[in-house]
Amino acid sequence: MPDRLMEGYQRFREGYYEEHKDALSALSEGQHPRICVVSCCDSRVDPSLVFDASPGELFVVRNVANLVPPLEQGGRYHGTSAALEFAVQHLKVEHVVVLGHAKCGGIQLLRETGGNEDPEGLSYLKNWVSMARPVLDQVNKDECCSDDELQTACEHASIRNSLNNLMSFPWIAERVKGGNLELHGWHYDLATSTLKMITLKD
Ligand code: ZN
Repeated sequence: MPDRLMEGYQRFREGYYEEHKDALSALSEGQHPRICVVSCCDSRVDPSLVFDASPGELFVVRNVANLVPPLEQGGRYHGTSAALEFAVQHLKVEHVVVLGHAKCGGIQLLRETGGNEDPEGLSYLKNWVSMARPVLDQVNKDECCSDDELQTACEHASIRNSLNNLMSFPWIAERVKGGNLELHGWHYDLATSTLKMITLKD
């Protein structure tokens, strides 16, 4: 194991674990998170840190660029959709938060590739981010004065795209319409630590 991890584990055992031993032990009986967060794999954005959450509070789904795919029947290995199904259908979370962030490399790649899939089919990354291709048409480039602004506009649009895709799953749409589930979009800026709400009406 890398030394960095072993040292961190030792500090965890002697610090956090000792302080929260009872709570952590109780969690071994089962998890009952009320909130599911879809966030990016980016090492700089940790939902538990940003929301000051304890173990057991957040069901976190991480993928490149915090994308929610649309409902798809084909294929077998739908990691994000499977995690959402578990959170919504089995854990019955009451909120799903799509947490985007500034300077997202996945969204940058989407822009660079124009949302086109890898013709050879060898790049998992290009094929993955291509699901957000509609985002590139939704952003009004004339309203963006700089590359940073365009990047941010694409990050916001991608969160909206994911919110719409969430509603393509019938078991999500049904719960939202029944008032048992709320969907939220937020964009986190690491440099200023600000959190912006993204709604479908923006
Ligand atoms: Zn990212």
